[in-house]
Amino acid sequence: MKYDLVVIGGGPAGLAAAYEAYENGVRDILIIERDKELGGILNQCIHNGFGLHTFKEELTGPEYAERFIDLVNEREIEVKLDTMVLDIDENKNVHTINTEEGYLVIEAKAIVLAMGCRERTRGAINMPGDRPSGIFTAGAAQRYINMEGYMVGKKVLILGSGDIGLIMARRMSLEGAEVKAVVELMPYSNGLTRNIVQCLDDYNIPLYLSHTVVDVRGKERLKKVIIAKVDENRKPIKGTEIEFDVDTLLLSVGLIPENELSKNAGITLDNRTNGLVVSESMETSIEGIFACGNVVHVHDLVDFVTEESKNAGRNAAKYIMGKKRGESFVELKNGANINYTVPQKVDIDALEGNLTVFMRVRDVFKNKAIVVRDKDNNIVQSFKKQHLAPAEMERITILKDRLNYNQGTLTISLEEVK
Ligand SMILES: Cc1cc2nc3c(=O)[nH]c(=O)nc-3n(C[C@H](O)[C@H](O)[C@H](O)COP(=O)(O)OP(=O)(O)OC[C@H]3O[C@@H](n4cnc5c(N)ncnc54)[C@H](O)[C@@H]3O)c2cc1C
Repeated sequence: MKYDLVVIGGGPAGLAAAYEAYENGVRDILIIERDKELGGILNQCIHNGFGLHTFKEELTGPEYAERFIDLVNEREIEVKLDTMVLDIDENKNVHTINTEEGYLVIEAKAIVLAMGCRERTRGAINMPGDRPSGIFTAGAAQRYINMEGYMVGKKVLILGSGDIGLIMARRMSLEGAEVKAVVELMPYSNGLTRNIVQCLDDYNIPLYLSHTVVDVRGKERLKKVIIAKVDENRKPIKGTEIEFDVDTLLLSVGLIPENELSKNAGITLDNRTNGLVVSESMETSIEGIFACGNVVHVHDLVDFVTEESKNAGRNAAKYIMGKKRGESFVELKNGANINYTVPQKVDIDALEGNLTVFMRVRDVFKNKAIVVRDKDNNIVQSFKKQHLAPAEMERITILKDRLNYNQGTLTISLEEVK
């Protein structure tokens, strides 16, 4: 079995990449999705807030997904559902399995990796205490309630104030549960401000910043969760414990890009993002293998996933039509108070227009400038920002005519506004 383009993952990233590759002349495309339907994580996100940038409308997750599923179906792009990709190799053979066709090896001229991410679990954060039922990741609870029709509990505590935790606080309240509190290890929330207001403040749900879970009690079902304040080293402070009588604890403690396939294929990963190292065209370290969406870095807005994935699809099409990758790259590095940048390298000649760079900052800041400097410390471009927070992904556009290969590396830092 052979295809020009195989897209792994049928979430918003995979759908947008496949659509854009088609629009750029590729006809022989296969999308492989392990779930029973296309749409990825959006299918369980029934709240609104999607698509403000892409469609200038506020859509729910399933509505946003449907727009792209329709575009893919109208173009009769082939899809294999309920099919798991087990392995890919450097020769672009994709090994898959499903119940109807068994084990299949599919040859591809180009591949787009769009496998999304998964949630960190209790084991990943070494949570102490008993092992009763009633402890779920927030995303698993979201799937149970919104897609499978099961209510997961009545008295709830949520650990982690990222967007999934905040959205589940509201969702559980709307379904009649009593959400006692959201508990956050850091001194600031990791969620979007609009979600703090709409999901906690509007429902009078308290947010405990600089607190964590120190004990979990219960034999069969969860009975009690004990939290405590943490010091500046994030260590619990004795004597600050608060007990909550709850039957459910939801964990929203981070997402990890789903890169087991990429690791097996020997593709280079970035230990800052746990995602893939990519160039301006979303090409990975293996020529002809592209990546987009949460498999590259965790996004808070699906609109940016779409933008990035269209770029991947367009460049996969160019590769299939015979374009080879350049030899020279300028490296992008994170300087003071920047956690990571994507892309990590840029082939200036290959840029279609200006260079878009996504990044996250290390802490909450007010009135700073994101400054891009070359290897000789000259300013390439600078961007004033009134408010920056780790929860909110930053996006800057560096003008193409400011870039040249002599710059060697581009270091992006937060600096005082001059
Ligand atoms: C709870 C939650 C709330 C959110 N709220 C908002 C919001 O309000 N507004 C907003 O704009 N954004 C929101 N987002 C963010 C946005 O939905 C995500 O960033 C986006 O869905 C990521 O798209 P993706 O295609 O990269 O990943 P996913 O949607 O996760 O899709 C990846 C797909 O790949 C498939 N897959 C993985 N591995 C394999 C394999 N080996 N073989 C076959 N298939 C595979 C998976 O089954 C999945 O369908 C939210 C996200 C979450 C989790």
